[in-house]
Amino acid sequence: MLTLLSIFLALSASPSLCDRPQPHVVHPLRPQTGFSSRPNVYAVSCLSWRLAVETDNIRNWDVVPKECEGYVGNYMLGRQYRMDSATVANAAIEYAKGLKVSRRDAWVFDIDETSLSNLPYYAANGFGTMPYNATSFSAWTLEGRLPVLPETHRLYQELLRFGIKVIFLTGRAQDQTSITVANLKRGGYHTWHKLILKGTPYSGETALLYKSTVRTKLEKSGYRIVGNIGDQWSDLLGPTPGNRTFKVPDPMYYLG
Ligand SMILES: [Mg+2]
Repeated sequence: MLTLLSIFLALSASPSLCDRPQPHVVHPLRPQTGFSSRPNVYAVSCLSWRLAVETDNIRNWDVVPKECEGYVGNYMLGRQYRMDSATVANAAIEYAKGLKVSRRDAWVFDIDETSLSNLPYYAANGFGTMPYNATSFSAWTLEGRLPVLPETHRLYQELLRFGIKVIFLTGRAQDQTSITVANLKRGGYHTWHKLILKGTPYSGETALLYKSTVRTKLEKSGYRIVGNIGDQWSDLLGPTPGNRTFKVPDPMYYLG
């Protein structure tokens, strides 16, 4: 840093350079969180990539860039993921505290990577760098051993205390109802107002269309969706998103 400062001061003091108009050049910082060994290929900054997927600027991506496997793994298994999740839960709880709760009020929870975590599966399968394998993922789901996401569980407990109805809305198929119930209870979600799994009328439909259609039906039947929390933008976009939406981190996969 001292060397750079010395060069900068030396250049600033040079009359030959100062006399000439200089173009404004922005020098990108060297990415610290990603790398590429390929010559002439701009290095992937895994931090920038994660920010872009979390903000929905990069969409419809299939897998995590191979260069970012270590970065995503460190993020998911380290403290940052937990701190980011806690920040989301804290914001949601602060918002809920300010509500005048009525009997109509409901909060929609996604399940996978929101209420429960598939991190053990992804840790054993490249942290999202490998293509989705329906067979092995389904086998993992049917074990019913997904751990709880503690920050979302804290939000769940607070909402119950405030008298807000909890509605789980998941893209899991209805034939996974019993294992989903068992896994939710095992994770500490002992009660809920509704648990909605994806039925055959929606098979083949996008998550966004399925979830937004169900939410619209809920509101038409009398519920007021005061909050909605999920790890995918398809949980939170479309008609009737809820009065407030909360996005929990997920740099491992994308569902449209
Ligand atoms: Mg999810």
